[in-house]
Amino acid sequence: MRRSKQSYRCSFCGKDKSEALILIAGIDGHICEVCVEQAGEIIEEELYGRKKREEDPSNIVLPDSITPKDIKTYLDEYVIGQDEAKKYLSVAVYNHYKRLRQQRKSEVELEKSNILFVGHTGTGKTLLAKTIAKFLNVPFSIVDATVFTEAGYVGEDVESILSRLLQVCNYDVAAAEKGIVYIDEIDKIARKGDNPSITRDVSGEGVQQAMLKMLEGTDVNVPPQGGRKHPEQKLVKINTENILFICGGAFDGIEKNIARRINTQVIGFKKDDMEMIDNDNILSYISHQDLKSYGLIPELIGRLPVLTYLEPLDLQALRRILVEPKNALVRQYEKLFDLEGIKLSFSEGAIDFIAEKALEYKLGARGLRSICEAIMTDAMFELPSQKEQVKEFEIDRDYAEQKLSRSKLAKLKAA
Ligand code: ADP
Repeated sequence: MRRSKQSYRCSFCGKDKSEALILIAGIDGHICEVCVEQAGEIIEEELYGRKKREEDPSNIVLPDSITPKDIKTYLDEYVIGQDEAKKYLSVAVYNHYKRLRQQRKSEVELEKSNILFVGHTGTGKTLLAKTIAKFLNVPFSIVDATVFTEAGYVGEDVESILSRLLQVCNYDVAAAEKGIVYIDEIDKIARKGDNPSITRDVSGEGVQQAMLKMLEGTDVNVPPQGGRKHPEQKLVKINTENILFICGGAFDGIEKNIARRINTQVIGFKKDDMEMIDNDNILSYISHQDLKSYGLIPELIGRLPVLTYLEPLDLQALRRILVEPKNALVRQYEKLFDLEGIKLSFSEGAIDFIAEKALEYKLGARGLRSICEAIMTDAMFELPSQKEQVKEFEIDRDYAEQKLSRSKLAKLKAA
């Protein structure tokens, strides 16, 4: 009797059955839930930890054979147009990884080539950043600059820019240190004289200041769960020297600053020079000076040395976006219906119509998705229950027009 009582103890910590929540029996012993957990941790550390070290992401460098042209060719598969931005991005990324390869410090220290995209909403800024991260197979995260504030104000600390990155690579610091962060809406932290918001620091300049070191490369103490740092939270140290930061913003109204600068510059030149300027795409003349007059501080501008622009998408580009990219919307809908055994097609007229409406709604390519959803919802609702009868289905212009006119989207537009 006494013997059997003794055997109901954890053979590792000696805990009695009455103290343990679970006691698992083996051939010649028992183990409690606490010891199972601890053993699990040891295995994680010993085996998984070592495995991770073997796959050390510091080995992630661009293979020698890859050239900026190869990078651009890859981008072409997913992003329509935007040749200038693609070229700048390809070169910047190529140089960034060349810099990583140059492990030891040499006399000529290569500086980081963080990038700034300027372009209207829905023109492909985020898509470019996302696609390049996919190409490089490095951790990638997107953060919105509008949520950050200077210490002492309501909002998130700038350090939490890196929290998301840490989360996407499962808290693997070494992987995060080679990642790419896309900071959206960077224009919203431009210095403004009379910012009425109480949730952000008054001038916006504090956030810019706080970002400087991080963009340049330093050790940052990151709150792993994001948000605000508080004393009880354990912070994770991340070195940002090899993290590539890509910033994007619409910089609404910056055209005025550009035009003003160009006009002052061309004074004294022949009239012909003035006429060379393409007024439809004034953004293509953007320079670091214009960002300064828009309200970015020179120190921040200096840390985003690669500046490029995205063109507004015209009808032709929107049309191509619908059908050409590898994961084009039209292809996605065809695939969805294909899974039901239905052959879906879009007529040329329907595609023209969707592109025309997206242009009219001025949402860039982002509008394409909502318009397609409005057109396709009824079909997606009804056809799965009719798949025995309906094997093929064509969306033509009339159908698209009719469905869109009845949708909330059209009503919103009309309002
Ligand atoms: P933003 O410039 O506002 O960051 P996004 O990159 O988020 O715009 O684009 C929104 C959506 O529109 C993307 O998901 C993408 O599918 C589509 N899109 C935008 N621009 C392009 C483009 N040049 N080529 C292909 N798709 C695009």
